[in-house]
Amino acid sequence: MTSAPEPAQSSPQTTSDLAELKRLLNQVSDVNAAASLMSWDQETQMPPDAARVRGLQMATLAGLGHELFTAPRVSELLERAQPEQSGPDQSDPQQAETDAALLKVTRRDHAKATRLPTAFVEEQSQAASEAHHAWIEARKNDDFASFAPHLSRMVDLARRYAEYQGFKDHPYDALIDDYEPGMKAAQVKAIFADLRDRTLPLLRRIVAAGDATDYSVLRRPFAAQSQRQFGLKIAQEAFGLNPSFSRLDESAHPFQTNFSRDDIRVTTRFDEAYFPMSLFGTWHETGHAMYEHGVSARLERTPLSRGASLGVHESQSRMFENLLGRSRPFWQRHFEEFAQAAPEVARGQDAESLYRAVNRVRPDLIRVEADEVTYNFHIMLRFELELSLLEGTLAVAELPEAWNARMQEFLGVTPPDDAQGVLQDIHWSAGLIGYFPTYTLGNLLSVQLLDAAKQDAQITEQVDRAEYTLLREWLVQNVHQYGRSRLPAEIVQAATGRPLSADAYVKYLEEKYSDIYGLS
Ligand code: ZN
Repeated sequence: MTSAPEPAQSSPQTTSDLAELKRLLNQVSDVNAAASLMSWDQETQMPPDAARVRGLQMATLAGLGHELFTAPRVSELLERAQPEQSGPDQSDPQQAETDAALLKVTRRDHAKATRLPTAFVEEQSQAASEAHHAWIEARKNDDFASFAPHLSRMVDLARRYAEYQGFKDHPYDALIDDYEPGMKAAQVKAIFADLRDRTLPLLRRIVAAGDATDYSVLRRPFAAQSQRQFGLKIAQEAFGLNPSFSRLDESAHPFQTNFSRDDIRVTTRFDEAYFPMSLFGTWHETGHAMYEHGVSARLERTPLSRGASLGVHESQSRMFENLLGRSRPFWQRHFEEFAQAAPEVARGQDAESLYRAVNRVRPDLIRVEADEVTYNFHIMLRFELELSLLEGTLAVAELPEAWNARMQEFLGVTPPDDAQGVLQDIHWSAGLIGYFPTYTLGNLLSVQLLDAAKQDAQITEQVDRAEYTLLREWLVQNVHQYGRSRLPAEIVQAATGRPLSADAYVKYLEEKYSDIYGLS
């Protein structure tokens, strides 16, 4: 570790280059962590009048981090540095491998950061800020036309970004690579087409079957303080979110952030008349938190010390939220405890009725409220529209119509206005084009990973009684520990024995929902 004294070095040239590079990368990581801490504080604790100066302070730190990372000295060291064969950490057999990964990933990040002219970065940041404000107003007033010129500009910037980064087959490849390294638009297309063809018939059968229980129970009163206590107790005791390295706060939009693997912040929000929001939200963010906590301490304060991609990250949050938190064994094990925390909700209910209620499938308008079956259709729709916008086959002005047509085709519903349709997500206003597919890739991967873990009979036996210690160890061993030192596809192949596909997820949906909805 960096705080340890450095012994004499046998190959002075390469060792000192690498050691100096690591010191500089540690500094970049520290500055970025300070900026993240300020951002967490802004969302959870900060008094409102602090916003103006806080914005300036965060911009300074962001600029400083970028400057440190793109400094000429870093370029020189990145060119010269070699993995240590006989350096100070010779006792660690994985040191050379870790060093090689550090150089590879940092060179990749560095090349991406330096391919963009400063003027372009500034233009993009300015345009995103303006588009974000325009989007807030447009959504409030249900006025897509006022947002359209900003969105056209964001699409144009995305195209130019792809040109700067370079791509072989499709400009989308250069965009998605920032969120899901190594993934290509063509692969996403193939996986999504398969998923759509196999789950649309299932969705139609579920809808035709009608209600599987009384869902009004989800709207019964449950005090925020009691929701917090119950949600956190499960997060700690079942999912491992130890208070020695984490804390839970409230924010308008739930998120997970961290400043090291041992300093993790999770947030949630409460609705006393709709408890699933806070409970499943807390467990979702706990999945993200446990991933970050599981990254090897050897990668601390380097570019490798976080999750491999957004998709792999989402596989962890979805596993805790849905595969475990919305499972029958989970509700059988925790129903009594839940009933004590929420006596009004639990009145006249049992584990089975609660299990069915929290697994309601209903085609609806809003992505973030969607269930396990319909969620992915919201993503496929966005992915298809993004491709068409980038290719220029769809004009921004035609977007609301195209959106509504696909909603009708996939889910059989039509938004009554654009605020509940094309304007619902923040992503495009922030220039985040290429981001949406990672949500569905994460859903698919969550089941593929759980299936692989359950090849171990002991893990299956535990999971069947809602006990997760062995599963959590398996995840650290097979996914978490590597951080960014392996590509997502490498992690998936090694952990599950095959590339990512829709197979496991489709089978999971068919079994779970055929049972709940009594489909033959
Ligand atoms: Zn998430």
